[in-house]
Amino acid sequence: SEGRIYNFSAGPSMMPLPVLEKAAAEMTNYGGSGMSVMEMSHRSKYYDDIINGAQDVLRRVYNIPDNYRILFMQGGATMQFSAVPLNLMVTGKADYAITGNFARNAYKEAKKFGDIHIAATSEADNFTWVPTPDQLDIRPDADYFYICANNTIFGTEWHYDPNAGDVPVVADMSSNILSKPVDISKYGMIYAGAQKNMGPAGMAVVIIREDLMGHYRENMPVLLDYQLMADKNSMYNTPPTYSIYMMKLVTEWVEQMGGLEAMAKNADLRSSMLYDYLDSTDFYKGAAQKASRSRMNVTFRTGNDELDKKFIQESIDAGMTNLKGHRLVGGMRASIYNAMPIEGVEYLIDFMKKFENNNK
Ligand code: PMP
Repeated sequence: SEGRIYNFSAGPSMMPLPVLEKAAAEMTNYGGSGMSVMEMSHRSKYYDDIINGAQDVLRRVYNIPDNYRILFMQGGATMQFSAVPLNLMVTGKADYAITGNFARNAYKEAKKFGDIHIAATSEADNFTWVPTPDQLDIRPDADYFYICANNTIFGTEWHYDPNAGDVPVVADMSSNILSKPVDISKYGMIYAGAQKNMGPAGMAVVIIREDLMGHYRENMPVLLDYQLMADKNSMYNTPPTYSIYMMKLVTEWVEQMGGLEAMAKNADLRSSMLYDYLDSTDFYKGAAQKASRSRMNVTFRTGNDELDKKFIQESIDAGMTNLKGHRLVGGMRASIYNAMPIEGVEYLIDFMKKFENNNK
């Protein structure tokens, strides 16, 4: 743990230290196998336990109902932008809420495959808000309704589960997976790229209701076919073996720490500490509208580009990293996922106060 710094990266991001230490301890000889997980056949008994164990712990932590399947897929979250329409479009209609860059990218991809209706968009306000239920215009005959549950770049988050009636809701939870309890039965499918709150890059986890799979398309690429992936236990070909193993360790850590309730409590604490401070001063301005603020990515600026640059440089000198905001928003962004200790947030706020005193 020596020399580790507070890393506010939006992803890949900080991992829980006990997870890294466990992986290090098992690196050269996993469970008496005489080899690293990286060196092992994915068709071995050892690996069976890992891939099934990863599903079991996720199912326990989220209380995932029996009629949902868990899939591990490659291509990150972006591959799901294509896989979702290819698998879930039956009549060829789908509705999207466009609340940020990744929702927009998903929408653009889906447009290649069918008739896509925009159910709501905050693009004209540079994605500073998430729609309220009454702002959603969802077609009752859409095959699915798509949202991005947490908008990593803009620092906004859906604080409710959208109700689309009989239309299944699909949610990209890449940047808030494992951060709060979710009633999975309110969604047709959720998915997440792993590299923020679940493990290293290289995979996406898909949790999907069984009846939404298997709508046969003649030209379906094999690796995007949810039904095939479910039938093959995510091993049609070689899966991202080490990423799945790390995701298992992270999810076990979540369970040991008290599960999703505990993660939610910590996320509320971390984010409210930062937002309370932002609201107490005129020096910094939060980028997102208050009702839509994310518990995971806190975006703010001083209002002066030169001062923002100075802030970022001095934060690096103070031993923090990755506080620079995304170019679409500017300013600063503190990504505070599960692995960020409360002390890291305290340290950042302390730094912000000093910077304010020295520069106002
Ligand atoms: N969705 C969200 C919410 C994201 O934050 C990101 C990545 N930052 C993506 C999708 C794209 O993920 P990937 O790089 O794994 O394709």
